[in-house]
Amino acid sequence: MDNQALSALREVFGERLDTSREQCICYSYDATGKMFLPDAVAFPTSADEVRRTILLANERLFPVIPRGAGSGFSGGSVPVQGGLVLSMERMDRILSIDEENLVAVVEPGVVTETLKEEARKRGLFYPPDPASLKFCTIGGNIAECSGGMCAVKYGVTRDYVLGLEAVLGTGELVRTGVVTVKGVVGYDLTRMLVGSEGTLGIVTKAVLKLIPYPETIATILAFFRSNHDGSKAVVGIIGERITPCALELMDRTAIDCVRENAGLPVPAEAGCALLIEVDGPKESVSAEAERVEQACRRYGAIEVGRAADAEGRERLWTLRRSISPALRQVNPVKINEDIVVPRSRLPEMLAFLADLASRQNLRIVNFGHAGDGNVHVNVMISGTDEDERRRADEAVAEVFRKTVALGGTISGEHGIGISKAPFLEMEVGPLGVSVMKRLKTCFDPNGILNPGKIFVEEGMARR
Ligand SMILES: Cc1cc2nc3c(=O)[nH]c(=O)nc-3n(C[C@H](O)[C@H](O)[C@H](O)COP(=O)(O)OP(=O)(O)OC[C@H]3O[C@@H](n4cnc5c(N)ncnc54)[C@H](O)[C@@H]3O)c2cc1C
Repeated sequence: MDNQALSALREVFGERLDTSREQCICYSYDATGKMFLPDAVAFPTSADEVRRTILLANERLFPVIPRGAGSGFSGGSVPVQGGLVLSMERMDRILSIDEENLVAVVEPGVVTETLKEEARKRGLFYPPDPASLKFCTIGGNIAECSGGMCAVKYGVTRDYVLGLEAVLGTGELVRTGVVTVKGVVGYDLTRMLVGSEGTLGIVTKAVLKLIPYPETIATILAFFRSNHDGSKAVVGIIGERITPCALELMDRTAIDCVRENAGLPVPAEAGCALLIEVDGPKESVSAEAERVEQACRRYGAIEVGRAADAEGRERLWTLRRSISPALRQVNPVKINEDIVVPRSRLPEMLAFLADLASRQNLRIVNFGHAGDGNVHVNVMISGTDEDERRRADEAVAEVFRKTVALGGTISGEHGIGISKAPFLEMEVGPLGVSVMKRLKTCFDPNGILNPGKIFVEEGMARR
């Protein structure tokens, strides 16, 4: 970025533009740990400031990288070509919660948990629940179309976005979608923007759908001897026509990481665990929980337990929640992929992953939202062994090939960013990539917004 660009930005932001090295370092990475320094960081407080920034960027041709909390798992908010990081954290107001129409209007910097709590106080539910909800933002959730534990029943962020206000790469402020339950007027620009990873527009306001908060919830933890039994039970539960609000799977590799610190006894022979929740009216929840337990036993569960109260529920969840922190202690570096396969192919996918780990001599830890076929495949590496890194990269490419061959998708919720850009074409084909690139040109003709993301650029290897 040249000095003229910086002084023009200073006029927009004053003290809210920071070029100090310390601040640039703070905004240079996300949860992938990949790091590229920006030239400056700005903190807008209004859509008009965002609009003026993008107009300037088109004049002076510098990259603008929108950023929420930087918790992304695909390098989406990392400024790979330098430029200006536009941190949306100060646009963090909940503008309204309309209890008659069940709609919330929020700014993009609102932390997801804050919105969920404000809705809950009113007996309302904003379902999207990424595990990062305590710090990630609604803007980041929209840009990544984030999911979470309850996606199996309630869907993902996309399903709750009714409309958006966004500044396009041209600097135009556009309002998309509706504030009503339905609407079908022209192309669905809202859906175009959701999941676009900050490459088409910068969200400055979101109109979100709320639903009534479920009356009650039952939590069940079941242990199985093998992945085969556990994943067959997943298919069996769904086959029973039960839709749990969470159906999480941990395989032996994940259980082994937390066995000691799980806070509850784990059977020695446990090779797979399912954490299952059903919610709704009291009477139906208790009957459904009973049927889930029966299904687990039918598929060979060696132990099935149900939480008696909120405290018990928390205890059961400790097992699942302790996996991510435990992984950091196992190995400093992990390659974290989030593939999805049709649920019925889960047994095959898990068997493939076990075989792959032994073939490539790697530790691969698998867990995830099995109810929607979403497996978090964590390839654990030291970060210092080059041969191990090469085997890990090969393993990841194999995982993607297998996923696509099984009719799945290479990312369920983390997006493409820089990490998966080299594999985009493997799933969507050359025509798919070409159509996407043409759309990008339409929204952002000068390539100002978040360059280097989603599409492989010349000479770009997997980062
Ligand atoms: C411990 C942990 C657990 C996680 N669990 C889950 C999970 O269960 N499910 C899941 O889906 N993800 C999960 N994630 C990934 C991550 O939290 C989500 O992708 C989240 O939505 C990112 O939000 P953020 O505010 O941190 O966005 P950032 O990481 O800052 O940005 C993500 C992308 O959004 C773009 N962006 C940000 N704000 C805007 C805006 N206003 N307008 C346009 N584009 C914007 C950025 O340019 C970038 O491309 C997890 C991450 C961690 C660290």
